[in-house]
Amino acid sequence: MTFRFRIIIASLILIMAACTPEETQKTAKETITDDNILLQPWTGPYGGVPAFDKMTVDAVKPAMLRAMELNLADIDTIANNPEPPTFENTIEEMERAGEEYDRASTYYGIFSSNQSSPEFREIQSELAPLFSEFRSKISQNEKLFQRIKTVYDASQETPLPDDQQRVVDLTYKQFEMNGAELNEAKKERYAEINKELSSLYTTFSNNVLHDEENYVTYLTEDQLGGLTEGYIKSAAQIAADKGEEGKYAVTNTRSSMDPFLTYSTERELRKQVWENYYSRGDNADEYDNNELIAEILRLRRERVELLGYDNYAEWRLQDRMARTPENAIELMEAVWPAAIARVEEEVADMQAVADKSGDDITIEPWDYRYYAEKVRKEKYDLDSDEVKQYLQLDNLTEAMHYVAGRLFNFAFTPVPEGSVPVFHEDVKVWEVTNKDTGENVGLWYLDPYAREGKRSGAWATTYRSYSTFDGVKNVLASNNSNFVKPAPGEALLVSWDDATTFFHEFGHALHFFASNVKYPTLDGGVRDYTEFQSQLLERWLSTDEVIDHYLVHSETGKPMPAELVAKIKKASTFNEGFSTTEYLASAIMDMKLHMADPDSIDIDAFERRTLEELAMPEELPMRHRTPQFGHVFSGEGYATAYYGYMWADVLTSDAVEAFAEAPGGFYDEELAAKMVKYLFAPRNAIDPAEAYRLFRGRDAKIDALMRDRGFPVPEE
Ligand SMILES: [Zn+2]
Repeated sequence: MTFRFRIIIASLILIMAACTPEETQKTAKETITDDNILLQPWTGPYGGVPAFDKMTVDAVKPAMLRAMELNLADIDTIANNPEPPTFENTIEEMERAGEEYDRASTYYGIFSSNQSSPEFREIQSELAPLFSEFRSKISQNEKLFQRIKTVYDASQETPLPDDQQRVVDLTYKQFEMNGAELNEAKKERYAEINKELSSLYTTFSNNVLHDEENYVTYLTEDQLGGLTEGYIKSAAQIAADKGEEGKYAVTNTRSSMDPFLTYSTERELRKQVWENYYSRGDNADEYDNNELIAEILRLRRERVELLGYDNYAEWRLQDRMARTPENAIELMEAVWPAAIARVEEEVADMQAVADKSGDDITIEPWDYRYYAEKVRKEKYDLDSDEVKQYLQLDNLTEAMHYVAGRLFNFAFTPVPEGSVPVFHEDVKVWEVTNKDTGENVGLWYLDPYAREGKRSGAWATTYRSYSTFDGVKNVLASNNSNFVKPAPGEALLVSWDDATTFFHEFGHALHFFASNVKYPTLDGGVRDYTEFQSQLLERWLSTDEVIDHYLVHSETGKPMPAELVAKIKKASTFNEGFSTTEYLASAIMDMKLHMADPDSIDIDAFERRTLEELAMPEELPMRHRTPQFGHVFSGEGYATAYYGYMWADVLTSDAVEAFAEAPGGFYDEELAAKMVKYLFAPRNAIDPAEAYRLFRGRDAKIDALMRDRGFPVPEE
């Protein structure tokens, strides 16, 4: 999750101090908003930094409104330029525009992710439709598109320098994909469809949310068997908050359902919790999503048909690394048989455990997590509490900086206290420099702890991205997590999974810092490629250098014993049948739904038939059943893109093997330099497939991924 998709449209969201005629007659209100702190240039050290200490929620709405207005004025200036269109006066101006919008958006992002409040959420919902309108005004600006097209057409005759050509190609493609070439009538229908879709997306999300909030399972004191103390405590609190004092609430969310199914000894209740969860959006009532999904699919199909495509998947994947839905499906179907074969083995192991302990049952979906946990204990004897003793957050932070030093030649130095404004006292800032030259690369902000108003999970963002076309801009990047803040003076110990995620997000940050692109558009990401760099960096957590120096026991200071490391590695493929199968079933469904004829589609029947064709094991469901698949139906972010996690993971596993085989292993200087040069620094300046080939000397193969997951490698 994590990084800032700089679609071109978004980067047009831009302006300069605009000086079009309508700007000269400012009202008093506009003058005030121009003093708005969120719009002001960033001042201070390190190339200027956001004034996080001065931002206020009251400033958000006027700032965003003004930023959009200025931005549109600027787009008009570009579109109405009387000079013939050139790269410089059209494309480069578009790259330049939007500074104020970018700055205001940085603060907006902090409010929405790190510092939200009921007050802010209200502003957010007021602004959401305006943002959408704003983007349409740019993507459907006919004069602007004609200028872009003229530059693009000319470049097909006389190519531009590589990086300029790439910006032109990406910009043109983005406009073309969003309907810029349609005639007026079709454009109108296109915009209508988008508007209809946006309200269907909202209804879809609200329906799922309704079912998450309204199907609570209350437990009594005698129904707590197997549950951990922490779980019981929080379940009691939730029940009390819901007015059911003395009971224990299992809510209908993944974070509540998953541990309950893993530990509860109450089989009937497990079944009930399981059914509630996997029926979200599918309860044949007014909150049922099935018809809504059919309508979404029909509208998406109609929209891409206006553009001349056969189906949504074909339209969506053309600028992804996979290129076509067939390529994505080919990968998924290559892994699928091994995944379901592994499920069969896992179920057999679980059944044996159940039989041995005298449980007279056949493994059902609501038993999977419960018996898998028993098998895990028996087979791997891995004590997660013991592992935690070696994972102190401060040491992990130093370990990441060490890795960045060895691979990227970056040095991380804490900035003097108070020299860089932060939005919360817990946020710490480091200066990033080139280890040899001392040259500034940027600033790294770390916001590690959970607090009210901060969204859950972990992510990385940029406040400013690298570019050079208009003078060198350094990078301001951040990592954000939700660790529970320790008592003063106490070490914060985290799980192996959390340590891995911490490295993952730092991989995104390094991807930002390593950028050497000239134009902002080239900082953008490709959805099925951009998790690769972050997944790759995770693998340095378990390198000897990191273990020996940084994974040391919180009390004894001794490094993690080799035996424990071996246990962790051995356990890493445990339950891979379950996780790969539940993921792939959803990813394949996502793709097939968007390739099918939506005219009279019955979603429920389609899901059942597709799973039958796949020979989906009966003992587990899709990770996201269709009526609750928010990635795909509460917006378009991950529609026909859910496969992307595995696509990126193929590259990850394959690249990791290159390091494992290199003379200097994971710290091989030559290979690390190649990695930075081809996989990180170009960002989207080179076609991802080409970039990977330059690194590896060939395309990635799925063999390494199969080995990583403990699956047999398919024969050639
Ligand atoms: Zn990520």
